[in-house]
Amino acid sequence: MARPLRADIDLDALRHNYRLAMELAPDSRAVAVLKADAYGHGLVPCARALEGLAPAYAVACLEEAERLREGGISAPIVLLEGIFEAAELERVEALGLWMAIHSDWQLDALLARGPGRPIPVWLKVDSGMHRLGFPPERVEAAWRRLAEAPAHACDLHLMSHFATADAEDTAYFRRQSALLSELAERLGAPTCLANSPATLARPESHGAWNRPGVMLYGSDPLERDNAASRRLAPVMTLRSEIIAVRELPAGEPVGYGGRWVTPRPSRIGVVACGYGDGYDRHAVDGTPVLVEGHRTALAGKVSMDMLTVDLTDLPQAGIGSEVVLWGRASNGEVLSVDEVARHCDTISYTLLTGVLPRVPRRYH
Ligand code: PLP
Repeated sequence: MARPLRADIDLDALRHNYRLAMELAPDSRAVAVLKADAYGHGLVPCARALEGLAPAYAVACLEEAERLREGGISAPIVLLEGIFEAAELERVEALGLWMAIHSDWQLDALLARGPGRPIPVWLKVDSGMHRLGFPPERVEAAWRRLAEAPAHACDLHLMSHFATADAEDTAYFRRQSALLSELAERLGAPTCLANSPATLARPESHGAWNRPGVMLYGSDPLERDNAASRRLAPVMTLRSEIIAVRELPAGEPVGYGGRWVTPRPSRIGVVACGYGDGYDRHAVDGTPVLVEGHRTALAGKVSMDMLTVDLTDLPQAGIGSEVVLWGRASNGEVLSVDEVARHCDTISYTLLTGVLPRVPRRYH
C-alpha cells in the first residue's frame, strides 16, 4: 500500500470562494492570484478550474506565466512583479501578458522597446508597504510617460498593496487608502488595490480590479471575526492515516527531546506526515488534528516523516483511521488551516505553500 498521505484539492470550493469574492465586490473584476503554485494547490489545475469565471490571473514571474500558457490557459495573466530583466519583455509580448511596473528601469526598458504590440501596464505605487512601487510624489510623472507612449503601453491601471488590511486597527489602512484615492482621482486612473482582507472587509478599496489570493483557497486572513469569512470553504485537505499505535503508562516522554510526557495512561497514534512533507515543525503540543472527524491534538515534536497524536479519548481510532491535518474530514468536520497556523506561530500562507512535492495532490 502507498504511504497514506495526500493533499485533496476541492476545486468546487475554489470556485465557491472565487464567487464569494465576486459577490462582495459586484462592481469590480477579480484577478485570481495563483502565484507560488496557486498557494501550493497546483497552478494549472486551479487556473483550469476557474476558467470561464475569472477574467484574469496573477502570478509573480514569467516562469509561472509560461507554465500557465503551456497548460493551455489563454486568459490574461498579470506579472505582479513585472520583469526581472529587459530581455523578458519579448516573452511578455509573445505570451500576451500584462505587467506591473514598479521601478524606473522597468519603465525605461518598456519605453525603449522597438516596434511591437503595446503591453497592458499596472503602475505600482508604494503607498505605504515600502516594498515595491513608485513613491507617491513620482507617480504622476511615470503615469504621464506611459500615457504618452501608446505604442508601448496600454490599458493603464494604478496598483498598490496594503500592509495592514487584515488588522483590527484601521489607521494605517486608511492612510494608504486616502493617498491612493487622491492619486487615482487626480490621474483619472482605474485601480487594482484590494487583496483578500480588503476584498472581504474593506469595500471602500474595491477598484476596477481586486486581487484576492489566500481567500480563494478558503483561508481567512482577517484578525477579527467577519460574516463573509465564515462563508469561505477550505480547498486543501491534508489527509493521512494512523500507521501505528502505542499504549503507554503515565510519565512516558514521546518523540524527539521527550517534549510531551504522557499525563495519564495514554494511547498514542503515529501519523504518516511530517516536516518532510511540509507540516510545520513549530507546531506545539495541543495543535488540533481531526481523527475520524473528531478533534484531538498533537502530542510531541513533529518528525520528518511522522507526527504523534493523542488517541486516549478516541478508543475507536486505530491503525488506518483517517487523520486530517487541516481541511475537511470525511464526516464533514472542518479544521481550518488558519487555526493550525496559529499553533505554529505562523500564517496559513506558509503552511499551504509549504506542502512539499512528495505529497501527491488529488483533484476533485
Ligand atoms: N497582490 C500582491 C502584490 C501580493 O503580493 C499578494 C500576496 O502576497 C496578493 C495580491 C494576494 O494577497 P492575499 O493572498 O492576502 O489575498
